[in-house]
Amino acid sequence: MMVTRFAPSPTGYLHLGHAFAAWTASRSGTRFLLRLEDLDTGRAREEFVAAIFEDLAWLGLSWEEPVLRQSRRTGAYREALARLAPFTYPCFCTRKEIADEIASAIEAPHGQAQRGPDGPLYPGTCRHLSADERAMRIARGDSYALRLDAAKAAANAGPLTFIEQDPAHAVDPLLFGDVVLARKDVPASYHLAVVVDDAFQHITLVTRGEDLLPAVHVQRLLQALLGYPAPQYAHHRLILDKDGRKFSKRDQSATLRSLRAAGVTPSGVVALF
Ligand code: GLU
Repeated sequence: MMVTRFAPSPTGYLHLGHAFAAWTASRSGTRFLLRLEDLDTGRAREEFVAAIFEDLAWLGLSWEEPVLRQSRRTGAYREALARLAPFTYPCFCTRKEIADEIASAIEAPHGQAQRGPDGPLYPGTCRHLSADERAMRIARGDSYALRLDAAKAAANAGPLTFIEQDPAHAVDPLLFGDVVLARKDVPASYHLAVVVDDAFQHITLVTRGEDLLPAVHVQRLLQALLGYPAPQYAHHRLILDKDGRKFSKRDQSATLRSLRAAGVTPSGVVALF
């Protein structure tokens, strides 16, 4: 039996786009699990966790218990990071230093910054630090993030593919460059946590919005490095507002809460899909 999941972050009320993702996953004819991406302790709130359960149930969805909470899984992420150690390096750059480095690369003759799905890629500054310098800065207490050395990881993993609704696609392991896998105050980045948890929950079908399609490239690479099986992927179209824009969390009128308050019924919401 295939297993899929819906993995919202409890940082706001569920909006239509999320409801569509949950509904699509729960209708996929597979086992359906729910997982809370609540690692952002500054923004995740219990009030939103309760609202997620209540709004999904109101929509007529049911899921298997227990619901996995990423905030309880920091040990698993630490273990995965330890296994990825040959392919990571500490990065001491501040956001400003990275922005300055990118700006000067663009200003150089024929200069350009490499771009990924989330904007300019990290220019790799800290990849070139010596072992002594790394050790000295860590000992000194400098704060750092752990980044994936994407080229080294890609060379180790060899050619990879992923299955998106049947055809196999080639993975571009360098698409996100040297992504951050963890920070001092965040035990795992989204990419690392989702890969570790999909394997832990034996997810065989990743169902989510097509805005996350590029994320597969780095996630497949991490799966290969960690020796995890590759799930299949089904990225669904996004629900857009009347101006053709993706609903954002700021769009309070498109949350299930406000649709409910406005008297829309569950079948009225499903009709919007
Ligand atoms: N938390 C993500 C979202 O709410 C979903 C991540 C995933 O399904 O991989 O869009």
